[in-house]
Amino acid sequence: MKALVLTEYKRLEFKDVPKPVIANPTEVLVKIEAAAICGSDVHGWDGSTGRRKPPIIMGHEGSGIVEEVGSLVTGFKAGDRVTFDSTIFCGSCSFCRSGLFNLCDNRRVLGVSCEEYRRDGIFAEYAIVEERVLFHLPEGLSFTEAAFAEPAGVAAHAVSLAPPKLGEDVAVVGAGLIGLLIIKVLRTMTAGRIFAIEVDENRRKKALEVGADHALDPADIDEVATLTAGALVPTVFEAVGATGPIKTAISIARKGGTVVLVGNVSPQIEIPLQSVVTRQIRLQGSCAINGEYPAVLSMMAGGTLDVRDLVSTTAPLSEGEAWFKKLYNREEDLLKVVLIP
Ligand SMILES: [Zn+2]
Ligand SMILES: [Zn+2]
Repeated sequence: MKALVLTEYKRLEFKDVPKPVIANPTEVLVKIEAAAICGSDVHGWDGSTGRRKPPIIMGHEGSGIVEEVGSLVTGFKAGDRVTFDSTIFCGSCSFCRSGLFNLCDNRRVLGVSCEEYRRDGIFAEYAIVEERVLFHLPEGLSFTEAAFAEPAGVAAHAVSLAPPKLGEDVAVVGAGLIGLLIIKVLRTMTAGRIFAIEVDENRRKKALEVGADHALDPADIDEVATLTAGALVPTVFEAVGATGPIKTAISIARKGGTVVLVGNVSPQIEIPLQSVVTRQIRLQGSCAINGEYPAVLSMMAGGTLDVRDLVSTTAPLSEGEAWFKKLYNREEDLLKVVLIP
């Protein structure tokens, strides 16, 4: 089969590789129909995270058609349209047994190769996925839309950790793809105002288009206090993961409020400790997805969560390397590029 292989950092080769075979009776062979490029793939491509050690087939946000199933697979058959969670959990550790699948001790991510393991992903014609992370696609949902189930699930999981009350104001710092998806999910849950905080003017425009009521440059952050009569915001979602935006997020959280940390670009950050402690702010980390797939898929199929305006382009998998370079160089203000094998 053809695959886009990271042969060394910053080098992707579109080439023939052996078609994967089912090695375990609970596995499913999926013919990939859409494979979106995630920000983490771009950071893997350039070697900055060390989570995509070459050679590896990256890619974890996608959809496809079941080609073949292992002997113990019961819920899927050849021809089924599917998407899948990027986290492959073990199902038997103490975290899995208490339903915290995203915190599995033996968690592996599709398309990641690090010190502990190596797992080929979906920038290929075929990929192997465990049945326990597969989901059927609702009728009418396109493969390209279904490729958003993973990032939309990440957004929905973050919101599930601090859901706004009806009519409550919320804020989202960072209007990249995940920030925009958080805004979209929040829009389905609160009639309160959604403040988007973002440095880039085009992204601020986009934030308004997808449902934010106010889009502010961090330099104008005092406007949040003005617009809320000094009360600030009960819940803030941070979707960048660096000192500056996290400080911004903390500064607009009201006393007793919560800052949900979703972004994690920087492994270490500085926090304004006194502001957090004396105002009793809760800092809540959010990791991946835990059970949000069915809700997100039905919201997308039903039109409550429309992701079509977030697709920047679809392109053949063979052109993958060129699109990675454009994403890396931040050309054309790309949000989401979906590759089609
Ligand atoms: Zn991703
Ligand atoms: Zn586990």
